[in-house]
Amino acid sequence: MIRINNLVQQYNDKLALDHVSATFPEHQTTAILGPSGSGKSTLLRALNLLEMPSKGTLKIGNDTAIDFGQPLTMPQILATRQQFGMVFQEKALFTHLTVRKNLTEGPIKVKKMSIKHANLTADRLLQQFDMTDLAERYPYQLSGGQQQRVAILRALAMQPKYLLLDEPTSALDPELEAQVLRILRDLASQKTSMIIVTHNMQFAKRVADQVLFLEAGQITYAGAAREFFEAPKPRIQNFLSAMQ
Ligand code: ATP
Ligand code: MG
Repeated sequence: MIRINNLVQQYNDKLALDHVSATFPEHQTTAILGPSGSGKSTLLRALNLLEMPSKGTLKIGNDTAIDFGQPLTMPQILATRQQFGMVFQEKALFTHLTVRKNLTEGPIKVKKMSIKHANLTADRLLQQFDMTDLAERYPYQLSGGQQQRVAILRALAMQPKYLLLDEPTSALDPELEAQVLRILRDLASQKTSMIIVTHNMQFAKRVADQVLFLEAGQITYAGAAREFFEAPKPRIQNFLSAMQ
């Protein structure tokens, strides 16, 4: 379980996170939804310390307790980041490495996994998601959807506690988006712990267990996805109809 409490993130005079508190249960998918500029990416990036809020706390299980009011040490930052795998909107594969090497680089270099073990893990992931035939290709030889699927597998290869995804399909056309969403649906049904920012409401409705709805840096709904979509309050109803 991740627990954040009273996170504050300010950019100049803009309060991007305004005392945000939330929990993210393990083995569930949490969708972070809300209008553009409401702070979704900032919240996601604060979890793995790509943003440093000025106040608040972050707890991950019993291992990690961060107080943003105090200076953080490098070992603390690295240990926190190791618990997350992150997938961005733009594919960010290592362009000079094959797909298999993209999947083994992090485990070998960061996790000190043996080359043999890293290769086995990579091959198992490729097989599981029907991508074995891509193993020896370079990123430029892949479609956008394939690249994004490899980016997801690369994050998984690090065996993170939580997978963080920031609009992982918004740079893809609908057909390629469908391939990526299929993987994410599989992962959700395997009870992977995921936190996903998305503008795709149909997808969120289908996979999310929990929804956090952000408006102007504040959480205005936190609870079951079913209730969010099936019995929305008027404000959320407006948002949902505008997203269709
Ligand atoms: P979108 O749906 O468009 O991706 P978002 O909900 O992810 O939006 P954020 O990117 O988290 O929104 O931004 C929240 C607010 O903080 C916005 O007003 C944004 O302009 C501002 N902001 C984000 N990053 C920075 C930055 N590096 N410098 C200054 N302002 C920023
Ligand atoms: Mg964003």
